[in-house]
Amino acid sequence: MPESLFCSPDGAPVQYWQVALPGPLRQLFTYCIPAGQAVCAGMRVRVPLGRGFRVGVLWAPTQASADWVIKPIESLCDEAPLLEDDLLACMAWAADYYHYPLGDALLAAFPPSLRQGASLRCVALRLSAAGHAALLADSIRGCRQKNLMLQLAAEPQGVAVHALSDAPVSVRRRLSALGLVEEFELTSLPRWPAIQAALGVAPQLNAAQAAAVQAVFATLSKFAVWLLDGVTGSGKTEVYLHLITEVLAAGRQVLVLVPEIALTPQWVTRFSGRLGLRPAVLHSGLSDADRLQAWLAVRSGLAQVVIGTRSAVFQPFADLGLIVVDEEHDASLKQNEGFGYHARDVAIWRARRLNIPIVLGSATPSLESIRNLELGRYQGLRLPERAGGAVLPKIYPLDVRTQRMQGGLSDALLAAIEQHLLAGGQVMLYLNRRGYAPNLLCHACGWVAECPHCDSFVTWHRHAQRLRCHHCGHERAVPTHCPSCSAALSPRGLGTEQLEDVLTALFPGFGIERLDRDALSRVGELDRRLARIHSGAARLIVGTQILVKGHDFPNVSLVGIVDADQALFANDFRGAERFAQQLIQVAGRAGRADRAGVVLVQTHHPAHPGLNQLISQGYGHFARGLLRERAEIGLPPARRAALIRADGASIDAPNQLLAAMADWLGQMPDEQLVIWGPVPAPMARRAGRYRYQLLLLANDRPTLHRALAQLAAWQGSRRPAGIRWSIDVDPLDMA
Ligand code: ADP
Ligand code: ZN
Ligand code: ZN
Repeated sequence: MPESLFCSPDGAPVQYWQVALPGPLRQLFTYCIPAGQAVCAGMRVRVPLGRGFRVGVLWAPTQASADWVIKPIESLCDEAPLLEDDLLACMAWAADYYHYPLGDALLAAFPPSLRQGASLRCVALRLSAAGHAALLADSIRGCRQKNLMLQLAAEPQGVAVHALSDAPVSVRRRLSALGLVEEFELTSLPRWPAIQAALGVAPQLNAAQAAAVQAVFATLSKFAVWLLDGVTGSGKTEVYLHLITEVLAAGRQVLVLVPEIALTPQWVTRFSGRLGLRPAVLHSGLSDADRLQAWLAVRSGLAQVVIGTRSAVFQPFADLGLIVVDEEHDASLKQNEGFGYHARDVAIWRARRLNIPIVLGSATPSLESIRNLELGRYQGLRLPERAGGAVLPKIYPLDVRTQRMQGGLSDALLAAIEQHLLAGGQVMLYLNRRGYAPNLLCHACGWVAECPHCDSFVTWHRHAQRLRCHHCGHERAVPTHCPSCSAALSPRGLGTEQLEDVLTALFPGFGIERLDRDALSRVGELDRRLARIHSGAARLIVGTQILVKGHDFPNVSLVGIVDADQALFANDFRGAERFAQQLIQVAGRAGRADRAGVVLVQTHHPAHPGLNQLISQGYGHFARGLLRERAEIGLPPARRAALIRADGASIDAPNQLLAAMADWLGQMPDEQLVIWGPVPAPMARRAGRYRYQLLLLANDRPTLHRALAQLAAWQGSRRPAGIRWSIDVDPLDMA
């Protein structure tokens, strides 16, 4: 309770509070509350704003001058704060660090339904008497309904909704409507390890794994950032599982952050099987109701393990004891638009605040993390060898100059594919371009199908019979003839659909699965495809980067990288780092069990120094070379960066806005600050808007931070109509 008591306009004593409200204004709003009302930071309030009402969060008590007209809040939404101090502090830090409005940042910590004021009950499901009877009579037809009912039958005390990530809401609603399952409010769960049911057998840790586990155990009650640098298949996940078990035994919660696409039911099953509990699984596809259930369960401590994609870092843990960030180099941990936070970095902040360890795992650590290790900010753990006797695959460049190619595959690669298939192995081909062909071209006049809204060509999706832009969502029918000269059109370039067709024709009978975003648009499709691969029904696998993320295919003996050249010559300064990470990760899919693996890299530049260094000396060496280069040129992570983006419907206005910003910053010369631009973005027009960017580089964070704060303050008064602009701190995606 604040000490200061004032009087409201009608003479009653009041207290004044700052309230964080969503919206672009980077300020807090002051309201008054009756003095007798017990309130504290983190409670939601409904307040009048403009002509309507908004839900905001009480931030801090404040003083107010008697001359101000200060409106009272309309109502309090909560009896207790929804966000605890540590999360409030985290949101305040993140809003400040990423220069994002506090009210909007706070919203990221709430499930959407709480922004309207939903009920706060944790709900669980159990089978009703009618449900038991129906199961006994075997009268349930729907396969998903029956599965859920069998699950519930096995757990008579009920299953919390947050732990039912594999059962869609629609199925649950249907069963409730039929009276076959019943909902009840959950107040407690049997604590781990009482619920350990059928625990999978843990392999005996090897020496490197045991050393890693020991090192982290020794600091379990202290903040430390551990970089677990382990080659693909070295058993990093085993290390996480051992650590998690220990933390659960101490009665504390665990957060595991993973890249979006790696979060498959197989992966979750491995976790639950070994931990003996159902983790709360959080990803972007969750319904609002499920998101709320998970949030409540985390807050009450009922959810002991949370596995989630980047936004899970804002969950309101009751007693967090450990954070794991798997594939810490993965760019999907950073949000590029709006609130541009990096989940790894926010997680590190939270771990420091809570004084707990955080483990960052990767076979290809980011340059940022390698540098932090070199600077002594992180501690290193290494797993240099594959676990369980598997060996790392051998990587060979394959010179395709002057070679005969069929559907993008050289004779040498085709021969290797055949050999591995006949020897009983599986073959994986990596091509980071979905669709049938990236261009549709007129050979007579040179016309190429373009996107009307972007500086980009449209991709021909032959199976769907559409032309699609991969940047703005534009799509249209495929023209039968060239619109400019009526000649026939032909595809140019290679996409995964075409590769799939070529392989089906060349290797009939071996079964082929394609893993790319198009193939995964339907729910459950990824799992069906992965199941066919795991069962051996599919022996050939074609895919984009989705397949490199965390999937483990023990029988793959050959990996073919169909086109290394597109990545070798990327124009982003992070191109080489990304290429190396992708190559090593894709290569890591080969030879995971008892089969030795081979990786063939098709290229027109077999002597490319980067490629050869990577192959002969490995990722660590290559990455340290890149770090030295970045330091010489003065690019991140040697310097801190922020990207200011602006876009608008006309070509000049966004450029002028950024030029004015650059001028304005230039008037306060700071030797530590370097300004590059404005320049057109690499994709200068997207979705009909012209895009420019300004890159700010600084030797230290305070300098960069000062410049950004000045910009945010300066722009408040001048915002040219129709122009959007944003600040991206530590940008990863420069497109
Ligand atoms: P990573 O996460 O580093 O890719 P995983 O933890 O998935 O590695 O391990 C790769 C494979 O090796 C898995 O099949 C796992 O069960 C197995 N494995 C891990 N550690 C051991 C060990 N100590 N002994 C035997 N097999 C192991
Ligand atoms: Zn033509
Ligand atoms: Zn487009």
